[in-house]
Amino acid sequence: MNMHARPADPKKLIKGATGDWEVVIGMEIHAQVTSNAKLFSGASTAFGGEPNSHVSLVDAAMPGMLPVINEECVKQAVRTGLGLKAEIHLRSVFDRKNYFYPDLPQGYQISQYKSPIVGEGVVLVDTADGTIEVGIERLHLEQDAGKSIHDQNPTMSLVDLNRSGVALMEIVSKPDLRSSEEAKAYVTKLRTILRYLGTCDGDMEKGNLRADVNVSVRKPGDDFGTRCEIKNVNSIRFIGQAIEIEARRQIGIIEDGGVIEQETRLFDPGRGETRSMRSKEEAHDYRYFPDPDLLPLEFDQAFVDALAAHLPELPDEKKARFVKVYGLSAYDADVLVAEKETAAYYEEVAAGRDAKAAANFVINELFGRLNKEGKDIASSPVSAAQIGAIVDLIADGTISGKIAKDLFEIVFTEGGDPRQIVEARGMKQVTDTGAIEAAVDAIIAANPDKVEQVKAKPTMLGWFVGQVMKQTGGKANPQAVNDLLKGKLGI
Ligand code: ADP
Ligand code: MG
Repeated sequence: MNMHARPADPKKLIKGATGDWEVVIGMEIHAQVTSNAKLFSGASTAFGGEPNSHVSLVDAAMPGMLPVINEECVKQAVRTGLGLKAEIHLRSVFDRKNYFYPDLPQGYQISQYKSPIVGEGVVLVDTADGTIEVGIERLHLEQDAGKSIHDQNPTMSLVDLNRSGVALMEIVSKPDLRSSEEAKAYVTKLRTILRYLGTCDGDMEKGNLRADVNVSVRKPGDDFGTRCEIKNVNSIRFIGQAIEIEARRQIGIIEDGGVIEQETRLFDPGRGETRSMRSKEEAHDYRYFPDPDLLPLEFDQAFVDALAAHLPELPDEKKARFVKVYGLSAYDADVLVAEKETAAYYEEVAAGRDAKAAANFVINELFGRLNKEGKDIASSPVSAAQIGAIVDLIADGTISGKIAKDLFEIVFTEGGDPRQIVEARGMKQVTDTGAIEAAVDAIIAANPDKVEQVKAKPTMLGWFVGQVMKQTGGKANPQAVNDLLKGKLGI
């Protein structure tokens, strides 16, 4: 669905004193390019080095130093553009964006302004109300700045240039988002795509993915309102909070008869407010002009085609394949493809097995347990082969689904070969009807009152099944228990 024409969704409107309001959001995402070296120098991009240890003469802006474009960063930007189904520009231009700040030794940032490397694209975002299409306006390459540290010593500010010159992709969305939920889902999806592509690790805690969030409000059907830009929001949760808080602030001002001033604001999660940082700077304040030290960036279609030929399977395609090939629900497929490592793990479990049973076990048992431990698939103590073995034991009737949960817990905490554990600990399902029958008879004999009740109320059968399972240590085959009980109770 084209978002520009999307009618306001009543569920997403915010109630104000004068009626309902629609929030409009557009995002500028700064994604650090995965590359060993910086955009215009050979200095390392490694995180966490001693301050000022990864700084070349170019990054420190020594006089006479010339930038040289890093081809790997260009490839990463093109790959990303392809992943965003975007137009790739065979010719783009680097500009100087001039401003002063102590962590910007050049006195300008090399960025792309009028001619970015990537043009319009699209990201499909799944929400509770269906899939929305979020337009990408552009993607351009630019340098990161250094880092100012103000809190080390009250009389001193320090500058660390390790980040200075690191390549960033600025990915600008169209104002197509209509709620904080949609905005969070968009960033999550974009991050998934970048991770699949291997062009940005998406680590928001390290600042490798930062969001500038543009927010405005309007009455449904009206033109766009004036926006405020909330700078550098560094977690998905904060993006949601900042939008909610900013939208309410703007509604309050307009309903009190005021007008929104276009400005740049900061989100303060501690206080739960956004604060004015500066009035919005206009492009002309930056005195953009083409960087005379750099030629326009040009490559041919063959360069793009070669990168396109080696693009990995992306989340949307993987999801479609999981639905088609494995017969999974769209929801399950979504959960499994959210991380490419998870998807690969799942495929290893599903290989040669009942794919739905494998998905259920991975999603319900494994993910739930990993979540509880704060672990992810990479640090999972249980391998795909072990999960596969458990799924096989259920499938061939060796254990019941209930015992499988206990078995999983043992494998999760102690490790080991599931089949051997089942043998060693006598966890095999009892399918021998003789043994089950003895338990059934005993329960029936001991509970004549319940036997009367179940004849009038067949849903009571569950109670009998529970008792038999208890007596057999959960090892009785549930189907056999059910059949025997029904026969003996005459229902
Ligand atoms: P600038 O270059 O001044 O930052 P852009 O036109 O490039 O301005 O827009 C920057 C971001 O603001 C984009 O993500 C865009 O979608 C978003 N945006 C533009 N207009 C609005 C609006 N009225 N409300 C919310 N977001 C908006
Ligand atoms: Mg901007």
